Amino acid sequence: MSRPAWGAAPIRCGKMKCKWRGYETELVPVPHKRIKGLGLTANVCPTCGCDSYMHMTAKEIAAWKRQTETPKESI
Ligand SMILES: [Zn+2]
Repeated sequence: MSRPAWGAAPIRCGKMKCKWRGYETELVPVPHKRIKGLGLTANVCPTCGCDSYMHMTAKEIAAWKRQTETPKESI
């Protein structure tokens, strides 16, 4: 399976309780916790610092877009 291009697909935090949604480009780079001394960085959730995330399903993307792009009430 091929992964979507970096930052192209919306992702969700790997922690079920975390409500953060966004793109890979919005993750925060921090020094890698598990592999020290190699100058590696991990990209973590800006809200909870979790270093795992998953791509959203089409359903999740639709719900997320509805939340973030709430249309203004028409007069
Ligand atoms: Zn998170």
